[in-house]
Amino acid sequence: MSDLRDLYQEVILDHNRRPRNFGPLEDANRDATGHNPLCGDRLTLRLRVEGDRIAEVRFEGQGCAISKASASLMTDSIKGRTLAEATALFEHFHAMVMAPPGTPPDEPRLGKLAVLAGVAEFPTRVKCATLAWHTLQAALHEPGAVASTEDETEKP
Ligand code: ZN
Repeated sequence: MSDLRDLYQEVILDHNRRPRNFGPLEDANRDATGHNPLCGDRLTLRLRVEGDRIAEVRFEGQGCAISKASASLMTDSIKGRTLAEATALFEHFHAMVMAPPGTPPDEPRLGKLAVLAGVAEFPTRVKCATLAWHTLQAALHEPGAVASTEDETEKP
């Protein structure tokens, strides 16, 4: 298990150092900004949705290694998927990071997103890992919105 954890760690560090799909997206037709005030993570997500499919997705922003790696992995995982598939993936991802620590991730469903399973052991980092996903939901359902992990206390 510790070898697996080292591998996961390596993937996270790699995505933090060289985030995939990072930068502006000129012909985006959906966007939202997400903010995690507990950690200071902030990212803007832009998508081009064609029909019910995510044709392109890119992000920009500043944040901790977990938030950046998570956004990088998410954009890689949802590109080319339908909106329903992306929502299902979000549900599986959310269940993984909220699961009791040590629960094996559902790798067949989650693919490389499973590298973030260890976040479940650190409740304060769960919001770093889910920020990109909450921002995705906002972009798809309330375009232009500012999503916050602290929606109860901070309204855009
Ligand atoms: Zn963070």
